[in-house]
Amino acid sequence: MFTDRDFRLSKILELEQHVADLIAAGEVVQRPASAVKELIENSIDSGADIITVEISSGGMTYIRVTDNGCGIAAIDVKTAFFRHATSKLKDAQGLEAIGTLGFRGEALAAIAAVSRIELLTREQNASEGTSLTLEAGEVIDMSPAGCPEGTTIIVRDLFFNTPARLKFMKTDRSEGSAVASVVLRCALSRPDISIRFIKDGKTEYHTPGDSRIDSCIYSLLGREFEADFLLAESSDEAISVKGFVSSPSAARGNRSYQFFFVNDRTIRSLLLQSALEQAYRNTLPHGRFPSCVLYITTKLSDVDVNVHPAKTEVKFVSDKQVFDGVYYAALGALDKLQITKHKTQIIDIEHRSEIIAQDPAYRSKVSEPSISYKTYDKQIPPPISFDPPPISFDPSPFSLPASPSLRVLGEALNLYIIVEYQNSVWFIDKHAAHERIHFNALKNNNYEPMSETLLIPVICRPGYEDASLLLENESLLENLGFSVESFGDDSIAVRHIPAEIDINDTESVLSDICNLLRLRGIAETTQRDNIYKTIACKAAIKAGCTTGIQELEELASRVLSGEISRCPHGRPVAFELTGATLDKGFGRS
Ligand code: ADP
Ligand code: MG
Repeated sequence: MFTDRDFRLSKILELEQHVADLIAAGEVVQRPASAVKELIENSIDSGADIITVEISSGGMTYIRVTDNGCGIAAIDVKTAFFRHATSKLKDAQGLEAIGTLGFRGEALAAIAAVSRIELLTREQNASEGTSLTLEAGEVIDMSPAGCPEGTTIIVRDLFFNTPARLKFMKTDRSEGSAVASVVLRCALSRPDISIRFIKDGKTEYHTPGDSRIDSCIYSLLGREFEADFLLAESSDEAISVKGFVSSPSAARGNRSYQFFFVNDRTIRSLLLQSALEQAYRNTLPHGRFPSCVLYITTKLSDVDVNVHPAKTEVKFVSDKQVFDGVYYAALGALDKLQITKHKTQIIDIEHRSEIIAQDPAYRSKVSEPSISYKTYDKQIPPPISFDPPPISFDPSPFSLPASPSLRVLGEALNLYIIVEYQNSVWFIDKHAAHERIHFNALKNNNYEPMSETLLIPVICRPGYEDASLLLENESLLENLGFSVESFGDDSIAVRHIPAEIDINDTESVLSDICNLLRLRGIAETTQRDNIYKTIACKAAIKAGCTTGIQELEELASRVLSGEISRCPHGRPVAFELTGATLDKGFGRS
């Protein structure tokens, strides 16, 4: 503990420029992806309509960004690397309505402080350009150079002089994925700019820059996305929202493909995310998320972009206006889908009746729909009566050694097993019980993963960051019965899955596992337990599914033998109604 006497600081000194730059660099440039984001933003601000981004080794050794923008005058080239040097903001008033992506004048100084830089730039119509070389923020060389109009900046050996920061870098694959994700967002933010991204010598994507949102989405996310997107639009005098939202059938297990742009700036926002998801409230089950590419345009003065060093968050003058804008745009798109679906059904029926009317031969072949409302009514089982006994099963051929007096009477609501046992009636939650059995097996290490080999691998597209997270945890997944391999940067191919998992659940299980792997500060055993819970839940027989009598009996016997009492989440798996309680209910006691 400090006493007054111990607590003595040194004399207060102003930090050297170089140290101040290193501290600032820590805020602005945390990893290669943040450097790339700043450089692309500079290129966009320069008015370029063609931008090329190239990286090697995840951006750790080499980043190049080339644009055909306005270029930098020779006289300004060195100044551009000073801290707080910007051509985009003149005075405090300018902060109230920022129309450029950059404005803080920090990025070039910050990147230069922690790397080796080569800059080649030529203003439009200038007779020659300038080349500038810096190392750790110090100018090494500056000279006139012949080069195309626009700017090329090459950043080598990021963090070479800050070993503390270098230690925090993840694998090149992981850093490269984060860069790919940033470039993708920048490219989506401006369909009017053609952006090419080259990674380790290979072009990853290339947008046409034809100003069309759909062709931009297509070149970045592929046809499957474009085909599943619904046009979403809303506007009032203060805000306009335009773009695409996914149809409910294309929902995903995570939010990796929710893209929001406010005045062409890519941002992360819980407000916008919840506005979007509210619109799907009645359409999507828990744990499924819509995707979107939504462009929100407001008056510049209605948004404060100066709230985050990396400018990824903004504040709105009116949260409600923005929330409503996104909510109604998405809701409108979903409503239109309903109407179109409804119309297609009507047209189908009308069309079919036309064919039937016109073609007597066809008529004889077409049978009436098997379930009409009337016949369906008849199929609903009559209300339970006490006479005869409501549910009966064929006598089971299996003996149950653990509890010989156990008798499964049936199943209620496709979920609860009803069992008579030792003068009580038990209700057992079949999903919860099965889930616990799986969980115990996984946890007690008597789980030999029974992998199912998939003839055709399942291709999952969890997004750049989750794809690399899964590949980094390959051996953990292997222990669970999954085998995954890279399939392009944002996708993985799954060749084996645990035998208990339904193939259709592959993507959602992996996405749940990613969500758990991402949580920090959690003890390893707790994290493992949580992953086991996810697998156990997905592997367990589901409510609503028909289950064979043999399986019901086995579950009941394991529950009533006392082997399990609660599901992995702590809920009870069985509920007892004693004979005495029943007697009392019938006034027999
Ligand atoms: P900011 O973008 O916040 O102004 P930066 O440090 O990123 O700060 O850039 C400093 C200045 O350098 C910019 O204001 C701009 O004038 C100039 N600049 C940087 N990159 C480019 C580029 N690619 N093309 C033209 N000018 C650029
Ligand atoms: Mg900038």
